[in-house]
Amino acid sequence: MKEQILAFSLLFFSFSLLAEGKKLHQPNGIKNSSNYFVKKEEKNFFLLLEARKFGRGEAILFRLTPKNKKWIHENFKVFWMGKEVILSKQGSSQIGFLAISPDAAPGSMNLEIQSKIFFVKRGTKQYQIQLEPTKFQVIQKNQTIKVDEKFVTQELSKETLEFIKECSKAKEVAFAKESGLQFSDNFKLPLDRIHITSKFYVRRDYNKKKGKPHGGVDFRGKSGTPILSIQDGTVVLARPMYYEGNFTVLDHGNKIFTFYMHQSEMLVKVGDKVKKGQVIGKVGSTGMSTGPHLHLGAKIANTLIDPLSLISIAGIMEESGEELASSKK
Ligand SMILES: [Zn+2]
Repeated sequence: MKEQILAFSLLFFSFSLLAEGKKLHQPNGIKNSSNYFVKKEEKNFFLLLEARKFGRGEAILFRLTPKNKKWIHENFKVFWMGKEVILSKQGSSQIGFLAISPDAAPGSMNLEIQSKIFFVKRGTKQYQIQLEPTKFQVIQKNQTIKVDEKFVTQELSKETLEFIKECSKAKEVAFAKESGLQFSDNFKLPLDRIHITSKFYVRRDYNKKKGKPHGGVDFRGKSGTPILSIQDGTVVLARPMYYEGNFTVLDHGNKIFTFYMHQSEMLVKVGDKVKKGQVIGKVGSTGMSTGPHLHLGAKIANTLIDPLSLISIAGIMEESGEELASSKK
């Protein structure tokens, strides 16, 4: 597989050379042989970024490989859009995951790498990465789509309102969990047969009311179809919710979460460790749903991202950024 490499410096350059290598023809825009790479060689480290695209709602893999292994006391701190990135050691490099907000303003995004040796600042590098334009789909529905009346009526009972409140509190607690990185390999798709019925951040209107952007990806599936965990992780929530129906949230560490909605059955419980590919539940139509499907969502550092962008990243288990960087033409 040949990757295209984007070289960039303190100021931004944008190239989108097409990969010549074989394309893995994955359905529905899930591609990982034509991902974009940014790489940079500095005095003391190699930097490598990988993303399906540097656009709104996308996940980016960050990899930093120190050049001189003798400098064991060299510490790196990384800031993405002003916020510190959680890094995890992987072989001789450190990896992290960056999120581009689906609501990111046009322009450039800031990545800062600070290095220190024995608490002495060695240097700070700033990189400006240009945001690629992304247009999310807008679906205008003229007819009223069938949603259970209980989801659209303004007058909800006191009990229902309390239940909704309690559900959102439970979500808050689950997404606040912090743990170290729980995986070392790429993500996978959540179903054996993939047919996407609604993309990320599509705006849909329910009963003529302007809906919120779609916070995940919908996969078609018959009721009872096994749902697979897309990555190793820990179950931090598994319970019935008002809107989400039977809802499972997995913590993958470093503030990366994936979540699975509308299940007919949940097969894991809070505290369970799950493996990538493990059956965690079954497709259903519980909660606010018009028919059996899986809604898959993902968050990095409290930012909703397109789960397919995470699944598309192909270089999570790569040993070294050094090798890739030295292959520069
Ligand atoms: Zn959905």
